[in-house]
Amino acid sequence: MPHHARCTRSTSARGPARLPRWPTLVALALLCAPAMAQDDATAVQRGADVVGDTPAALRQRVVDWRRDLHAHPELGHAEKRTAALVADHLRALGLSPVTGIAGTGVTAVLKGARPGPRIALRADMDALPVTEATGLPYASTAIGEYRGQPVGLMHACGHDMHVAILMGVAEALAARRDTLAGEVMFVFQPAEEGPPVAGAVFGAKQMLDEGVFDDFMPDAILGLHVWSRLSVGQVGVRAGPFMASADEWTLAIRGEQTHGSQPWAGVDPITVAAQVLLGTQAIIARQVDITATPVVLTAGQLNAGTRFNIIPDSATMVGTLRTFDMGVRDDVIARFRRTAEHFAAASGASAELTVAMNAPVTRNDPALTARLQPSLARVVGAGNVVETPLYTIAEDFSQFADRVPGFYFFVGTTPVGTDPARAPINHSPLYAPDEGALDVGLRALLQATLDFLGSPPAAGTSPPRA
Ligand SMILES: [Zn+2]
Ligand SMILES: [Zn+2]
Repeated sequence: MPHHARCTRSTSARGPARLPRWPTLVALALLCAPAMAQDDATAVQRGADVVGDTPAALRQRVVDWRRDLHAHPELGHAEKRTAALVADHLRALGLSPVTGIAGTGVTAVLKGARPGPRIALRADMDALPVTEATGLPYASTAIGEYRGQPVGLMHACGHDMHVAILMGVAEALAARRDTLAGEVMFVFQPAEEGPPVAGAVFGAKQMLDEGVFDDFMPDAILGLHVWSRLSVGQVGVRAGPFMASADEWTLAIRGEQTHGSQPWAGVDPITVAAQVLLGTQAIIARQVDITATPVVLTAGQLNAGTRFNIIPDSATMVGTLRTFDMGVRDDVIARFRRTAEHFAAASGASAELTVAMNAPVTRNDPALTARLQPSLARVVGAGNVVETPLYTIAEDFSQFADRVPGFYFFVGTTPVGTDPARAPINHSPLYAPDEGALDVGLRALLQATLDFLGSPPAAGTSPPRA
């Protein structure tokens, strides 16, 4: 990932982690973004004053919450302790949290003193079945069970940071309630990483199905993800589609069992599986317009047979499909089904394809992005706002962003001096984000929220219970 560091020289010898302060920030923004669109500049002027440094007490509490969450990871739909911590905090801020949405989800609405727009802020809460190997003092030693297997548990995707950041943003916004115009819903979502059982409804979709927006339809929803491929102090954004749709597909091939020495006496499903697998790659190479949108079709499991001299009666393949356009996704699934069924028929076998969608394409609303990207620049400096490439990873934030305009950005976590391209990536047992990203995320999300609400200038982010 390219670094846009040519404008960070004046920040200090410590690099982008040492963030410039207002009014240095104004000067930097002007220097670094001479071509900033007129609309963006106007939006910045319209918005709230730039958020100041986070009070030290709140900054420390966010670090403490994150370390506590990190030491106590919980898998999707089992985030009981996490949800209780969140709900207690929201109550302490004077809010009335709703709990138990999609099992362990928590929401609360903060009403400003004056009427205004509605915005939702989302953080995901779940950890992963990964055994931590960072050696950090607050490293997880938790053990759990995933799909019947005992596993180590770890916040290897950094959702502990998302929860702590949103708790901090809630506190900073609650402190500004008297000057706030509009309403903010805090959405603490379970199970972003997928369902406990393949094919089940989970996470964001389940919250929506259970009516999370029934009584509070926001005008926009914001979210963020900590990300190893950016340095701490940088944020990443892209307008339009930027994370892929993700489907989990299963292909069941049925043949006819026979002795391994006499294949002509049966129907070999393993050979059919091999033909179909190569056929899927011909779909991508020969049938998809690769100049329009990338597509990835991967088989991650191929299961068949029990013994070297028996041709089994069936073979099963399981994999994932990633696209950046839902029309392309539907088209590729249709071509996959046709390819599988025809290869199977050619050998006298049958093939059945089932597809479970984990997430649609994640896209940033272009108008909302144009409006809020300058908010990020106000916090980190325009030179530290990086345009991200398309990522074939997926995010179920897309479920929310399919209902209302969404804006989602990445917050860099790799320590300055380490190459982000080589640092342990999210989901690695060695993923150890720089905690400086907590304050960057807090201030960026707070600034974007205040700018969206058009809140008048307010001093600092003083906590209500300092
Ligand atoms: Zn993840
Ligand atoms: Zn994640």
